[in-house]
Amino acid sequence: MESYEKLLLQNRAWAHDQLEMDKDFFKHLAKAQKPNFLWIGCSDSRVPATGITGALPGEMFVHRNIANQVHYTDMNLLSVLHYAVKVLKVKHVILCGHYGCGGVKAALGNQELGLLNNWIRNIKDIYQQHKTQLEEIKDTEERENMLVGLNVKAQLMNLAKTCIIQQAWKDDNIPYLHGWVYGLKDGLINDIMNIAPRTSLESIYEYELE
Ligand SMILES: [Zn+2]
Repeated sequence: MESYEKLLLQNRAWAHDQLEMDKDFFKHLAKAQKPNFLWIGCSDSRVPATGITGALPGEMFVHRNIANQVHYTDMNLLSVLHYAVKVLKVKHVILCGHYGCGGVKAALGNQELGLLNNWIRNIKDIYQQHKTQLEEIKDTEERENMLVGLNVKAQLMNLAKTCIIQQAWKDDNIPYLHGWVYGLKDGLINDIMNIAPRTSLESIYEYELE
């Protein structure tokens, strides 16, 4: 059997099991979605958003990219954010990075990686901003871990700096922003930063909104 065929068989078994537990499972889900959470995470296959949190179908809107970046020119991310916040009105946006992130490791190195260089360039800027603090750490893995955390914090701030989030804060007093880091070695999530609705930002980043 081809490896992909296993996935199709497993899908049949999964759908069957769901119906065993609740015969209306798909009937209810097919009507509409009302998720409470937007997850922005890394594309890494070892960090499945719903798998590691136990979130069920219908509970979590998901966007993933390499090294969980929030770029202002990323129409994909901005469209997902806009829809999740304005239409679905999610109460929580979770930005989750992970230790051992290949994107962060690549940003720490000097290898030429083609298109990927541009995607992870922002992480090099975060490194440069915290260079002294990072270079005090001699252990390579510890230094990578610190940069993973700094990257999560910077991307969470990038979310707060969007007019999408600021408008939702003004109109609905949601969403809360959460910065998390998942550990590949222990399977545990650490909550490292939270930003409540209507938190003041440096004035240069605050929009005058209607
Ligand atoms: Zn990663």
